[in-house]
Amino acid sequence: MSEQTQPAPVAKKYVPRPEGINLEFHLPAVATGMLHIQRCSACGTWRHPPRWYCPSCHSPDYSFEPVSGRGTLYSLAINHFTVDRAWIEEVPFVTAVVELEEGPRVVGSLRGVPVDQVDIGLAVVVTPEARGDEFAFLWVDPVR
Ligand SMILES: [Zn+2]
Repeated sequence: MSEQTQPAPVAKKYVPRPEGINLEFHLPAVATGMLHIQRCSACGTWRHPPRWYCPSCHSPDYSFEPVSGRGTLYSLAINHFTVDRAWIEEVPFVTAVVELEEGPRVVGSLRGVPVDQVDIGLAVVVTPEARGDEFAFLWVDPVR
């Protein structure tokens, strides 16, 4: 009996399933490919992560409005380990906190910058990428 070699199993990257108000955040990004941020319908305050009530005026009325995604790198973590083996070829990668021009901060994955050259204050743009019908991964790219 000959021994056959099996192809290595292909790892699939885990895709979260957001619910409730977090799902409301992802749906317009999936549908349009543009980042949308929650905004109070009463006073106009931008907020993220999404909340049921406005922290400024306590209104329960809100919408998710498109934003440019432009901002600056506020904080970062260089990841040398991943619990999801599907990401092993991406290590090391940078998890970025971006302060948007509108004010709120969002978390995404930085690409296009070597990890030893990334620095706070970098001008970036956040772009969602649909992963299925209910979740958008957020990429962070440097503005050149
Ligand atoms: Zn408000």
